[in-house]
Amino acid sequence: MILTAKHLIEKAGKHLGLSQQEIDYILKIDHEHVFDIVLDNGSTHKAYRVQHNNSRGPYKGGIRFHPQVDLNEVRALSILMSLKTAAVGLPLGGGKGGVAIDPRSLSETELEQLSRAYVGHLHPHIGPDTDIPAPDVNINSQIIDWMVDEYETITGDKSKASFTGKSIGKGGSFGREAATGRGGMIAIGEYLKLAGKNPSEMTFAIQGVGNVGAFFTKLAETELRARIVAVSDSQRTLVVKDFSNNKDFISLEGLKNRRKGLIDDLANSHVEFLDRDAILELPVDVLVLAALGDTVVKGNANMVKAPIILELANGPIDEDGFDTLTAKGTVIIPDIVANAGGVIVSHLEWLQNKAGESWSEEQVNEKLAEYMVAATREIYEYGKEHNIPLKQAALALAMKRLLESKKAK
Ligand code: NAD
Repeated sequence: MILTAKHLIEKAGKHLGLSQQEIDYILKIDHEHVFDIVLDNGSTHKAYRVQHNNSRGPYKGGIRFHPQVDLNEVRALSILMSLKTAAVGLPLGGGKGGVAIDPRSLSETELEQLSRAYVGHLHPHIGPDTDIPAPDVNINSQIIDWMVDEYETITGDKSKASFTGKSIGKGGSFGREAATGRGGMIAIGEYLKLAGKNPSEMTFAIQGVGNVGAFFTKLAETELRARIVAVSDSQRTLVVKDFSNNKDFISLEGLKNRRKGLIDDLANSHVEFLDRDAILELPVDVLVLAALGDTVVKGNANMVKAPIILELANGPIDEDGFDTLTAKGTVIIPDIVANAGGVIVSHLEWLQNKAGESWSEEQVNEKLAEYMVAATREIYEYGKEHNIPLKQAALALAMKRLLESKKAK
């Protein structure tokens, strides 16, 4: 992922006519904090916080607990965060953190100890106006609540603005849980409007119906009236039989185990199960990638038939996949805009904490929509004006903003 991010930035930079010095500035990482956390059970775990760029505002980005976390991954994701916050016009920078651990191997007491130890080490380097971490893979609001409590105990800060993704009772924001899926629904809705297409006449397939994919699917069905004809999870694809010849669709209302993405619950006589990766090859109008990074790569990009792809996961299409798809005219609505709903509502949570307010879900959703619509229109117009794919347009706009704020500093 670090190479894909680097190459795409270099490509977009060349298109913009940037000097190597300017490209190096965009890739340069401000600070890297790497440390060990030792738990009472005697185990030691590598922990990271990478602060990429704060020229537009405090560093912002999630923390993940996952066995495969390493410094290169955290670096790449921190760069993508700076580009994401800039692409959607937030006054924030980019950072990312993580601990190399499988949290499912820990008891609740150990998980709390790990979360508090992470903050115990990092507290001098983070804070409401410095670096505001948030949840990412395997981090829930309980973990963030422990982290805020630890931060406030050590520093005396009482603003709740040191982290976002808190539970509602502890300063969290309404609308946060659905924000990334909702933001993606707004982005594809706006793109289709600009392209003169009607979502209610289009078929959609969604790879991965976890938190992001499930909220997206439900909202696309209810608010865009999109026809969902296939969904997949880590095991298989569920597809409406012969969907080009009938009007059946899949409704996620029936998905009881949505949080776990167990699509077995949706089986009925109108649908059939296929292999996990069959979803990528279906002749649908819109393919939504909401599972993992690097799922469309050199080996399978040619098999993708959908003319429009929405990237809800981070980096779901690698560089070879991007080149293959772009060559055959596939439109890719890029991750740094498409999945920015989460960081936008994080910013709204932080604003509420700073002002000592709590906004209704409608207020939050309205502000989220303003950011998403504006960002989608901007990349659409820029891409059209310069005859470049939306991904390059998003990167170019973000990079221009990073360089402008550097100059203004
Ligand atoms: P999640 O763990 O809730 O869901 C992931 C889903 O993907 C699960 O249902 C899993 O079964 C499924 N899956 C795993 N491998 C798969 C495969 N090979 N094929 C099909 N499905 C597969 O995670 P999430 O929070 O929904 O995040 C999904 C993606 O979106 C991740 O890449 C994440 O980094 C990105 N993202 C999330 C947020 C957020 O706010 N949660 C924000 C920005 C980006």
